[in-house]
Amino acid sequence: MLVIMEVAAGKAEIERVEAKIRELGYKPHPIPGSNRLAIGITGNRGIEDRIYLEGMPGVQQVIQVTKPYKLASRELKAENTVVLVGDVKIGAGNIVMIGGPCAVESREQTLRIAEKISKRGNHILRGGAYKPRTSPYAFQGLGERGLEILAEAREQFGMPVVSEVVDPATASIAAQYLDMIQIGTRNMQNFTLLKEIGKLGKPVLMKRGMSATLDETLMSAEYLMSHGTNDVIVCERGVRTFASHARNTLDVSVIPAFKKLSHLPIIVDPSHASGNRDSVIPMSLAGIGAGADGLLVDVHDDPEHALVDGPQALSPEKFSELLELVGRFAAALEKPVGNPE
Ligand code: PEP
Ligand code: MN
Repeated sequence: MLVIMEVAAGKAEIERVEAKIRELGYKPHPIPGSNRLAIGITGNRGIEDRIYLEGMPGVQQVIQVTKPYKLASRELKAENTVVLVGDVKIGAGNIVMIGGPCAVESREQTLRIAEKISKRGNHILRGGAYKPRTSPYAFQGLGERGLEILAEAREQFGMPVVSEVVDPATASIAAQYLDMIQIGTRNMQNFTLLKEIGKLGKPVLMKRGMSATLDETLMSAEYLMSHGTNDVIVCERGVRTFASHARNTLDVSVIPAFKKLSHLPIIVDPSHASGNRDSVIPMSLAGIGAGADGLLVDVHDDPEHALVDGPQALSPEKFSELLELVGRFAAALEKPVGNPE
């Protein structure tokens, strides 16, 4: 259910409604809108209790939410959610670029790449410190040292940083270093991890599972939101199909479908979707054309020697080319690149 408060409702009235929701055994989730507050309710099984809320002072309307995901749904919140990562807005009708190496390999490599892409106009720095690898023999990431390096890059180049967390034990440590926490495709349905990360209350970049439906993806976003964060960004990174010409198949069709059902931002990762650098620019433009709010792109200045995913990394020069094309495409769509004015 969703309680829509009157525009003039005061703090005391809002608190009384929240207390009533708790008294009924449910959980209130305040959702600020541009001119009025709504309060989402989770934990209820039906709408039989609406009568207790409808008559309360300050309440305009009580609405039933029909979707199994409540907090992530547009039924609950019609306006788009704008997530603030450091000082970068995502979902405000703009396009945001999140670039960087797949993995933090060393201090020198990360600072070097961060400098090159920040000069070119990148907004948020990516880099994996804990790498979920298919092979146990492959480079697993630098762990906490990698997070320290990302924090140093943020200080030097003024870009907020995002990195993946793979297990609940390291979630709170990682949160101390990061502006946004990434959940990888392999962990989208690791519900224990989702609950722990939701509790941290930080922005989360959640990748769609490689074989997850849209409803399953939204239910995973719901796990994060019902545990304490309102700031979830979903990332389409390609799904498993019969195609053998690419690492995955970028499902651009999910973007308009997602936007219809949810108020959350959605971005595209053309690098993991294609697995090959020649496809990254066209797939980026396809994602933006379909309505994505931004791109997550692997960039490396020595891809031959990259420890992870070299074949899909753009050089800093190619990244400039991508930015130039994104700028032109975004202008045609009347969308700013970076924060809106
Ligand atoms: C990544 O972005 O570093 C990554 C591991 O991606 P995915 O979870 O989509 O495979
Ligand atoms: Mn990768």
